[in-house]
Amino acid sequence: MALSSSVKRALFDAALFTASQIALYYTIRWVLDSVASPVEKKEVKQKSLEALESLGHKDLKLDEYESQIASEVIHPDDIDVRFVDIGGLEPIIESLRESVIFPLRFPHLFQSSSLLGAPKGVLLFGPPGCGKTMMAKALAKESGATFINIAASVLTNKWYGESNKLVAGLFSLARKAQPAIVFIDEIDSFLRERTKGDHEVTGMMKAEFMTLWDGLTSSTDRILVLGATNRPTDIDSAILRRMPKRFAVGLPDVDQREKILTLMLRNTDLVPGFNLRLLAEQSVGLSGSDLKELCRNAAMLPMRELLRESHGDPEKLAGIQTEDFKLRPLSMTDFFQREATSPLPVD
Ligand code: ADP
Repeated sequence: MALSSSVKRALFDAALFTASQIALYYTIRWVLDSVASPVEKKEVKQKSLEALESLGHKDLKLDEYESQIASEVIHPDDIDVRFVDIGGLEPIIESLRESVIFPLRFPHLFQSSSLLGAPKGVLLFGPPGCGKTMMAKALAKESGATFINIAASVLTNKWYGESNKLVAGLFSLARKAQPAIVFIDEIDSFLRERTKGDHEVTGMMKAEFMTLWDGLTSSTDRILVLGATNRPTDIDSAILRRMPKRFAVGLPDVDQREKILTLMLRNTDLVPGFNLRLLAEQSVGLSGSDLKELCRNAAMLPMRELLRESHGDPEKLAGIQTEDFKLRPLSMTDFFQREATSPLPVD
């Protein structure tokens, strides 16, 4: 039966409308693409290029997403923390060496069994100021692996689909420059338990991250995701499962505090017979960073005395020669001056 002319006309109008909408869509896309590129085609930072080269990854062919991520590679020379600078965490350091550094650097030794090999995820957790970031920095310095310090903001792009491409760029860069450690500080805020309030882009980015993380195979990929958090309970349980190796970096006990204080005061003049053990016993509940503040405040006291003696006279101060300039040694009371003992409360 022949279609009536009015039906024909309606079909023609519908087809015309669809075609015009498609044309409009592509025109807008073309205009937007030419006005602003979703991912800026940035040059990789020189320092990061040098870091990659120093680790033996010269002339890597990187696409724009990988290049953007490559700028987050840390040069070991830019880090001044070594494992020996960390006090009281020797068992964790030893375990990290055995279970992370050696399998990443010497995979052939771990190939005899599929049960050996580096874990794909490691989590450092504990209250703030106890050495998690220090530990990650020392790993970046001493592991010999490409260390990518990634912040959520680098992966979050408002353009639809771009975050996923950046996540893909992260994993493909790690693969090209392996052995590699992908470090995510405050991983709880990055990969937090997925909630209804999550922005769709964030949710997609997380899902992509998990998929690519799962895609790492221990036989060919020497890539590790290292996370640090003060709030392990906020982390998505799916993420926790992917981080089977977890190290509690808790508040230091008295022996650990003694070790930390010994390290922190190693270049500071102390009165003869200064009792470091007593100081460690007296500083119950303080974290590593609180102890640092305690020592810094104590060390300021002799300096403040000197400044007061000279009445802040610039000429007098300028006249002091560095060779005969010596501050008085610190005594126990310096550590318990009111000003010196007011660390922030610990969580
Ligand atoms: P977190 O990442 O656990 O919050 P950080 O590693 O940033 O803590 O520590 C903050 C500062 O506290 C460090 O830069 C260091 O000066 C000091 N500190 C913390 N823990 C230790 C430690 N175990 N040994 C030596 N210094 C420490």
